[in-house]
Amino acid sequence: MPELYVDGQWRSAADGGRREIRCPADGSLVAEVDEATASDTEAAIDAAHRAFHEGPWPTTSARERGDLLLRVADLLVRDKDQVARMESLDTGKRLVESEYDVDDIVSVFRHYGHVASEDAGRVVDTGNPDVVSRIVHEPIGVCGLITPWNYPLLQVSWKVAPCLAAGNTFVLKPSELTPATAIHLMKLLEEAGLPAGVGNLVLGTGPDAGAPLSTDPRVDLVSFTGGLQTGRTIMAAAAPTVKKVALELGGKNPNVVFADADFEVALDYALTAVFLHSGQVCSAGARLIVEESIHDRFVDALVERAGTIRLGGPFDERAETGPLTSAAHRDKVEAYVAAGIAEGAVLRCGGRRPDATEQPELADGFYYLPTVLDGCTSDMSVTQEESFGPVLTVETFRGEDDAVATANDSIYGLAGAVWTQDAGKAQRVAGRLRMGTVWINDYHPYVPQAEWGGYKQSGTGRELGLAGLDEYRETKHVWHNI
Ligand code: NAD
Repeated sequence: MPELYVDGQWRSAADGGRREIRCPADGSLVAEVDEATASDTEAAIDAAHRAFHEGPWPTTSARERGDLLLRVADLLVRDKDQVARMESLDTGKRLVESEYDVDDIVSVFRHYGHVASEDAGRVVDTGNPDVVSRIVHEPIGVCGLITPWNYPLLQVSWKVAPCLAAGNTFVLKPSELTPATAIHLMKLLEEAGLPAGVGNLVLGTGPDAGAPLSTDPRVDLVSFTGGLQTGRTIMAAAAPTVKKVALELGGKNPNVVFADADFEVALDYALTAVFLHSGQVCSAGARLIVEESIHDRFVDALVERAGTIRLGGPFDERAETGPLTSAAHRDKVEAYVAAGIAEGAVLRCGGRRPDATEQPELADGFYYLPTVLDGCTSDMSVTQEESFGPVLTVETFRGEDDAVATANDSIYGLAGAVWTQDAGKAQRVAGRLRMGTVWINDYHPYVPQAEWGGYKQSGTGRELGLAGLDEYRETKHVWHNI
């Protein structure tokens, strides 16, 4: 069965292009899928444009649109095992993590299924009883949705659910490395009754299949999640048609540990913060900023624990983290660590691929050991640039002002955490951190009701929450002189 979905039909790439998908855990062939080029994406934009301007979708009631999303949530529950398995084979991540992801995806569809019909606008007081002034929400139009490989279906759901809730049509281009669950989602949308042309899927590389979504004048909004450099390219490409641009980009997220933190809990979470999914998490706590007085004890304990983390493939139940997504990505992480050491960082553990004689089953995967680089300062490139791998840099601070200044010394502002048992200090520091999410005495949790997004060069706009729905809506003022 062909894998591109355009105007309610499954079809092959116009030029016959195909791509092999391989599991990062062992390099095995998972699937071969169609690979679109610009002409396929243009056909998909055409379908989405017709469905928006001629079809019933934008004017169906918000309740009907919400009901469709709730049906999709139920179908995802039905297919949970299958979807989690697909995600793990494409990404190499542990099956248990993919299962959590599917639960989160279901929550996202349920959340937008419910809020779709809740906020119908408002009436404005003009002081004139003969005038009715209303603020109404309308869909933006055709949305280009471009997503990365680290949380493939989760990132897709953060866009598709609010996009449909608001009454838009879309063309989705997921990462070329991890297409399986996006294909499955389109099947579920079809099964749930989404009209032809409302949702379209193209698979392929960014420069070929993705680029028209930022340049085509028929696309009204491009919502992108991915790396900073690609975000800059998309923003520039979108400028001539002044389309709306929403960007969820990278992060280099500080995890600030004060001396009065609960030592053991902070230590546990410092490890998960950075090594979950081998660091391939946009909000990974990849910069440990620890109060100088506890540096030695904290980092010694952390290095000891990091050295015992077990690597393994999706179905190894004893594995604590998995492989990197590709050989090319591992090369980048290796180069990043080498550059850090050349800059003066002290390698405390990891810094290499696992020894294949100790764990032969890792030999064909793209594994890299959990790595700690101590003795870093915020002027080093290794503390400023995102590695997107299992690499923790360690800096120290003295006192509250220094902690805040160090943590904020970054072009990024996606997320960060503060660890202290002093509630006043926790609130003061959280208030001064320039980032879209701050966790206090925790790391990583989120709920679909709460907004997610970046300050500074971590992006523009927000996903999730009510602001995540607003990204997909126009606001109209209707003044009626009765
Ligand atoms: P990437 O920027 O390489 O690719 C992301 C997507 O953009 C892919 O689908 C790719 O094919 C597409 N793309 C590439 N060039 C394009 C172009 N010129 N036009 C249109 N599309 C193009 O990122 P990646 O390596 O897939 O993902 C990792 C990055 O994503 C990291 O930097 C990470 O921090 C970021 N990320 C951010 C968030 C967030 O919520 N802020 C979430 C997940 C990942």
